[in-house]
Amino acid sequence: MSEDDRGANAPEPLLRALSPALDTVLGKKFKVLDDGFVRVVDYMGNDTSIVQAARVSYGNGTKKGSDDTHLIRYLMRHRHSTPFEMCEIKLHVRAPMDVWRQWVRHRTASVNEYSTRYSIAINAARELSPDEWRVQSATNRQGSGAAVDPTIGATLSEEEKRFHAEARALYERRLEAGISREIARKDLPLSTYTEAYWKCNLRNLLHFLSLRMPGAAQYEIREYANVIGREIVARWVPAAWSAFEDYELGAETLSVAEQRIVAAFVKGGSSAAIEAALALGFLRDEKDGTRKILREGAELAAKLPSLGLTCPW
Ligand SMILES: Cc1cc2nc3c(=O)[nH]c(=O)nc-3n(C[C@H](O)[C@H](O)[C@H](O)COP(=O)(O)OP(=O)(O)OC[C@H]3O[C@@H](n4cnc5c(N)ncnc54)[C@H](O)[C@@H]3O)c2cc1C
Repeated sequence: MSEDDRGANAPEPLLRALSPALDTVLGKKFKVLDDGFVRVVDYMGNDTSIVQAARVSYGNGTKKGSDDTHLIRYLMRHRHSTPFEMCEIKLHVRAPMDVWRQWVRHRTASVNEYSTRYSIAINAARELSPDEWRVQSATNRQGSGAAVDPTIGATLSEEEKRFHAEARALYERRLEAGISREIARKDLPLSTYTEAYWKCNLRNLLHFLSLRMPGAAQYEIREYANVIGREIVARWVPAAWSAFEDYELGAETLSVAEQRIVAAFVKGGSSAAIEAALALGFLRDEKDGTRKILREGAELAAKLPSLGLTCPW
């Protein structure tokens, strides 16, 4: 050991940042949908890593008076996002290809996916039970409505089973005929399961969750996002997760126009709110005497209950 290693210049010993709660579920498969899962393969960092990075950038001067949780909440509230990039997580995911297609739109992760050019496609496809078929939403062109009548659902589930079996048999016949795996796969259904390793930093993971946990996202990917958020991130970085729930997931934002309408409502009641909403293009009076609620009018109406207000239109 050199003099320096023992003296004032000795390097500060560092311990690996662990998350004991996440360690207890490392490798555990959290089941999603009928045959999917998410499991944590590895991670780097914990809540303390976020704080450590923030304190490097702010200097020790800001240390007083703000404990770790408060600092994390401050960072989240003010979108100081880089400290959250100090934490990384690697997940092993098994998901149907249609879900995966939405998932990989998130470009800020590193991905390795099971290759159906190299290997025989996974022999599993997502199957819906009779009560899982959803009708087209009447209000949202991208969404679903209620479950279909169960007798119709039962027929759809039977047809689905037959179709999956036929598609798989065709695929296997092609392989037996010596067709390459990259060509034989071309007619496999999108419901076929795929697997991947997906590595992402916490900042980008929270962004993924902010888009894929809310109701606007498709139910299937939401199921994965909910497991990742509530089972994994909540264990891994509890302070960051709680701040994320408060300032992002459960938060509502109001545009300038929305603030004006809410202010008019609070000050002048329903008629003032409606007047402001008409003037700002949230509502429209038609020639036939009816009043149309435009898209922003409907969106603001959905936000009002969280402010303790009942929509005046
Ligand atoms: C409810 C919902 C419906 C959707 N519907 C459709 C649809 O109908 N059609 C469709 O095609 N997609 C659709 N998407 C996908 C959506 O448009 C985004 O591609 C996806 O959510 C990824 O978002 P992102 O780019 O913010 O995330 P990431 O790719 O993870 O990127 C994170 C952030 O990094 C930055 N970034 C990354 N790459 C770039 C870049 N090249 N240039 C600039 N900044 C970058 C951006 O700030 C971005 O927000 C939908 C998504 C949701 C949640």
